[in-house]
Amino acid sequence: MSRNILVITALMLLVLTLPGISTAKLKVVATLNDLGWIAEQVGGDDVEVSVLCPPHQDPHYLPAKPSLAKKLKKADLLLYNGLELEIGWLPLLIETARNPKIKPGSRGELECADALEHILDVPTGHVDRSKGDIHPLGNPHFLLDPRNGVKVALLIAERMSELDIDAAERYKQRADMFQASVEKRLPEWEALLSASRNCPVIVYHQHWEYLLNWLDIQTIGSIEHRPGISPSPRHTKDIINLGRSQKCVYIIAATWDNLKIAKKASERMDAPLIILPGATGAMEGAEGYLGLFDYICKELSRGGVDGVRNE
Ligand SMILES: [Zn+2]
Repeated sequence: MSRNILVITALMLLVLTLPGISTAKLKVVATLNDLGWIAEQVGGDDVEVSVLCPPHQDPHYLPAKPSLAKKLKKADLLLYNGLELEIGWLPLLIETARNPKIKPGSRGELECADALEHILDVPTGHVDRSKGDIHPLGNPHFLLDPRNGVKVALLIAERMSELDIDAAERYKQRADMFQASVEKRLPEWEALLSASRNCPVIVYHQHWEYLLNWLDIQTIGSIEHRPGISPSPRHTKDIINLGRSQKCVYIIAATWDNLKIAKKASERMDAPLIILPGATGAMEGAEGYLGLFDYICKELSRGGVDGVRNE
């Protein structure tokens, strides 16, 4: 080791041990890649972010591996989507982690759905999760509307400020910057899809309701019988008839959906299939939360020209 490196190392150690200078970062664990990305924008250098569910994985069904509980052991703040999206795996991971900071009801856990005023698709009748209903409290995929991403960022900034008061001003500033960057892009994304307004589309899973609601595109049905339940032959027949009679313009599926079924339905309906990233980073070119909407809006505006109909 050269003399210069030794001097620099000694100086760094001195700075780190000086009283009153804290280098500890807020340890944030986010369940979803979208939330992790937003947390990084808001937290900047004041936080260390890790994510539990990889972007290519359907967040309804993440295997609760011990390595994930390990990430939660040292967390100061757990950010999760909520509305029972993660109910199949997160409670078990929290229990295994035995970290009092993030236990349910503590200030170290934040259900990001709390940022929303309006939840879509709230069931009105009896809901039985044992029969496979995976949206029992309404549609949990609200991060697919970038305006909801902003609301979530502002809520995250509030909670980070509460847990790390010294950096409160910086959290607020960064959340404001994030809001400005999203709001600047909204008209561009909306303009790309202006020709699709009121067009009828069919989705595989009800993953896209907030996105389509924002863009005024009309969902007329889903290939899944109910959220999380594979289509019966009867339902498949009905949805194909519906798609044909309503002149469905395209079918949307996420990379993790059953694409074999989606392609078959697309062929029989003679409507192209558009496969989209269901989360930030789920497909190449959809990196970052803003990049996700760049990708999705561009693909939808092309109307599935490379879809199965043209293969
Ligand atoms: Zn879902």
